[in-house]
Amino acid sequence: MEQVIIIGGGLAGTEAAFFLAEKGIKVKLYEMRPKVNTPAHHSDKLGELVCSNSLKSKELTNACGLLKKEMEIYNSLMMQVAKKVSVPGGNALCVDRELYSEEVTRIITNHQNIEVVYEEVTELTTHVPVIMASGPLTSKKLEEALGKLIDTKFLHFFDASAPIIEKDSINMDIAYYKSRYDQGDDAYINCPFTKEEYYRFYDELINAKIASLHEIDMKYFDACVPIEVLAKRGPKTLRFGPLKPRGLGKDADHKPYAVLQLRQDNVIGTLYNLVGFQTNLTYAEQRRVFRMIPGLEKAEFVRYGLMHRNTFVNAPHVLAIDKSLKGNPNIYIAGQLSGVEGYVESAASGLYVALNIYAKIKGIELSYPNETMLGSLMYYIHTANPENFAPMNANFGIIKGATKQNRMEIAEKSLKITKKYKEYIDALNE
Ligand SMILES: Cc1cc2nc3c(=O)[nH]c(=O)nc-3n(C[C@H](O)[C@H](O)[C@H](O)COP(=O)(O)OP(=O)(O)OC[C@H]3O[C@@H](n4cnc5c(N)ncnc54)[C@H](O)[C@@H]3O)c2cc1C
Repeated sequence: MEQVIIIGGGLAGTEAAFFLAEKGIKVKLYEMRPKVNTPAHHSDKLGELVCSNSLKSKELTNACGLLKKEMEIYNSLMMQVAKKVSVPGGNALCVDRELYSEEVTRIITNHQNIEVVYEEVTELTTHVPVIMASGPLTSKKLEEALGKLIDTKFLHFFDASAPIIEKDSINMDIAYYKSRYDQGDDAYINCPFTKEEYYRFYDELINAKIASLHEIDMKYFDACVPIEVLAKRGPKTLRFGPLKPRGLGKDADHKPYAVLQLRQDNVIGTLYNLVGFQTNLTYAEQRRVFRMIPGLEKAEFVRYGLMHRNTFVNAPHVLAIDKSLKGNPNIYIAGQLSGVEGYVESAASGLYVALNIYAKIKGIELSYPNETMLGSLMYYIHTANPENFAPMNANFGIIKGATKQNRMEIAEKSLKITKKYKEYIDALNE
């Protein structure tokens, strides 16, 4: 019988282990806690939710809601347990965190096809399929082992990312396409400020509320200054930095006081990021203050800016579509380490990798459908711009053809396709 090694008994690792074990594959799951702890985990349990107890919206027209429904089709461990230990949360699926990890631990440790080994993994073996699901707080020694297999410039240790917005929500009556001094194609969308607009925005930015930093080693942040910190260095710092207007007027007569550039973020051109706007403002403040930027009054944020310790690989550079390392086909990466963001997304990526490994064991290369939320998320991290890659959560902006109006239609189609795909996967056993 085939064996798969999984490193990390968190959300992605347990999800992958459960799927494979249910399919009759032997799994050896390594978890370093309680022998070695992370700065965020508090227990010795598997599948610990480190912070909030919410698995986000249950609505089908919400991206994370749709992703959960797709996972349910595959009898996802996370979905089964979450339903069992849910607590009232309105539209959101909220759980009792303690009961959640107790139940995950019970199911995983009692599974006849899973052996749990409570040891820190410090070396990577390649003779059987290995799933690295060691999360955003991967131990140093394992980071070093991974660093021997990929160029370390593609291994990131913190997430200092700028917000990403939906292109459809940009007011193109104000914003316009242009590259600085018309060099290159019109790759950027530009948001021009008048002097008054700039200072109004500046005043709000320097006084906006900052998010409390989760456990952080501040030295990681020296290289990447948040926009609000840069702004506090002086009223004109942004004008000479990320909002430099030179060469960005609409035409020869247009002389904006400052300009924010938006850079295309996905191949299908539905998402744009705010260039140079890595930030540690609270999500609510990002929405309020960044919507003061001319052209972004109605911006829809698919991902807010973030700053926290977060080990992840530059997925578009180092991972194949099945999430194996390019050049090391037996080593797969799942969860936050693979470039997704969030509890549900991490578990979903564990499921995706397990599907791929299972199919490979059965002699098939999967080509997962992109019309689904899971497929789109996996495709996004495969094809995103590697220059400024940061972990991504589920959102409708990454599904081709999705608009605000047709979300229910897209969701229903996605579930239909997922059900068919599940039948295809099940048939591999026959
Ligand atoms: C502080 C913090 C707060 C967060 N809060 C939220 C939130 O509220 N909501 C949300 O949706 N997302 C949140 N996230 C993001 C993310 O969804 C979670 O971190 C999620 O747990 C990631 O799942 P994972 O399976 O990739 O990693 P984890 O769930 O962290 O699992 C990784 C496991 O690997 C183990 N491990 C690490 N190194 C080794 C090794 N060398 N050998 C063996 N085992 C090892 C760890 O002990 C851990 O159990 C947060 C992240 C952080 C860092």
